[in-house]
Amino acid sequence: METEEKSLNFIEHIIENDLAEGKHENRVHTRFPPEPNGYLHIGHAKSICLNGGLAQKYKGKFNLRFDDTNPETEEVEYVNSIRNDVKWLGFQWDNEFCASDYFDQLYQYAIQLIEKGLAYVDDSSPEEIAVQKGTPTMAGTGNDFRNRSIAENLALFTEMKEGKHADGSKVLRAKIDLASPNMHMRDPLLYRIKRATHHRTGDTWCIYPMYDFAHGQSDSIENITHSICTLEFIPHRPLYEWGIEQLGIFPSKQYEFARLNMTYAIMSKRKLLQLVTEGHVSSWDDPRMPTISGMRRRGYTPESIRDFCERIGIAKRENIIDFSLLEFCVREHLNKIAQRRMVVTDPVKLIITNYTQSEEMLSSENNPEDTEGGVRQVPFSNELWIERDDFMEEPTKKYFRLGPDFMVRLKSAYIIKCDRFEKDAAGKVQTIYASYFANSKSGADTSGLHVKGTLHWVSAKHAVPVVLNEYDRLFSVEDVANAEGDFKDYINPNSLHTITTAWGEPALLNDAADMRFQFVRKGYFYQDTTSTKDKLVYNRTVTLKDAWAKEQKK
Ligand code: ATP
Ligand code: MG
Repeated sequence: METEEKSLNFIEHIIENDLAEGKHENRVHTRFPPEPNGYLHIGHAKSICLNGGLAQKYKGKFNLRFDDTNPETEEVEYVNSIRNDVKWLGFQWDNEFCASDYFDQLYQYAIQLIEKGLAYVDDSSPEEIAVQKGTPTMAGTGNDFRNRSIAENLALFTEMKEGKHADGSKVLRAKIDLASPNMHMRDPLLYRIKRATHHRTGDTWCIYPMYDFAHGQSDSIENITHSICTLEFIPHRPLYEWGIEQLGIFPSKQYEFARLNMTYAIMSKRKLLQLVTEGHVSSWDDPRMPTISGMRRRGYTPESIRDFCERIGIAKRENIIDFSLLEFCVREHLNKIAQRRMVVTDPVKLIITNYTQSEEMLSSENNPEDTEGGVRQVPFSNELWIERDDFMEEPTKKYFRLGPDFMVRLKSAYIIKCDRFEKDAAGKVQTIYASYFANSKSGADTSGLHVKGTLHWVSAKHAVPVVLNEYDRLFSVEDVANAEGDFKDYINPNSLHTITTAWGEPALLNDAADMRFQFVRKGYFYQDTTSTKDKLVYNRTVTLKDAWAKEQKK
């Protein structure tokens, strides 16, 4: 695959054409412009990989810009989380800026437009403005404010800035075309009055620029060559270009691609925030969240997320990507790097009656996929925990695990044969008694015995208690974003299953907190942020196989 020449995506085509024509002095300069009003999600990851990736590929530059023009919803906590998430994904930005760095400049730009007769102060209410804008099939009607003189507009706009007018009592609008078929060109709002403390500029400003009068201008100030956004901004593009043209500033260009939508997930920060504030999940980094921080806590690797973004490519048309594809990428990577450990989740006692030593250490491979993964020592003794469902009193056909008189191999240890078992008063199997074959040791097996099943186990007296969080989809319908009614009605009530009965091998106690594990036959796991040496807690990152897809096909 790697040697194969990959075909260019449509943005790469544009860039290569631009470079061939010597546009922008052969520079490529992209940016990722999040609004710091929430944590980043997998959709943002796609945008970061695209913008950051293009800068890398074309040896250009990549800016991180906080699009902070809505002081009511923006917070420093979000700013910090965004920086952290972009870095963790593996992208380093060349410059960090904020739209608020440009408030003075943007204000000057607004004055320039007023002076050119291209902007006016409008005292109408939002409702009046909406009515006067007309409809897509009917031209808008102007109002008298549209005919204000340049001098009056300059005076009023200055007063707006100086706080002489109430919130919402006036706006600054561009004077473009009330009959334009594009509603965004019908005298769009440029500035509004809003007394709100901004996380960076405090109370310096009581007027704030609108998205359409901040975004393109910020791109231009930063000399961004290719400003990539999602499809819903196509109708904004004429306005983006109008602003740049009228102000005569650096001609950044806007290009649009389809946003990432995924099955069983939502990608709106507003809705994700609701899940957090209403307690449907524990936090923004709850491992069930499609946020970068949630995926990190769950154990997804940056490599697997980047691989996923690469595989889905970029499109010009909306689509919905199967969540299983992301899980596939995670599994692919973890299979290569995860260390194998043994954990028994629903334990039943296994006593090996003819094992007379007190204990011994057995070598077990850390990762059969990695020749340099090495081995670890696992303590073995005559009292083990094995999985309850690895034993059947009356085995059915094709059951190759343990049952009366059945033989199995204990992973990295010996072949055993089940001799008998005991039940408790309630009829539940309590203890299984077996004998082992001393000459069947893994790696030095001279027994000549052949068995079909291999079971994982832990030595009872050496085992450490572990808590496991297993996750299922947070939503129970595929296309949550478009499902009828409230998206919260589709929350899967069984998305978290916590196992508190599990025993793990003692190596876990000394393993680093950021190690990736495959708990043999159980899935891939990663230590939760709440985990301590006294209480080890692991999140199931992903199952070993795509059980979900199988379930769907039934
Ligand atoms: P949300 O609706 O979740 O709040 P947003 O688009 O308002 O998303 P921004 O902070 O403005 O969030 O997004 C920053 C950048 O990330 C933008 O360039 C935007 O186009 C991109 N982006 C956001 N969501 C997606 C997505 N689902 N797929 C691809 N890119 C996205
Ligand atoms: Mg946005």
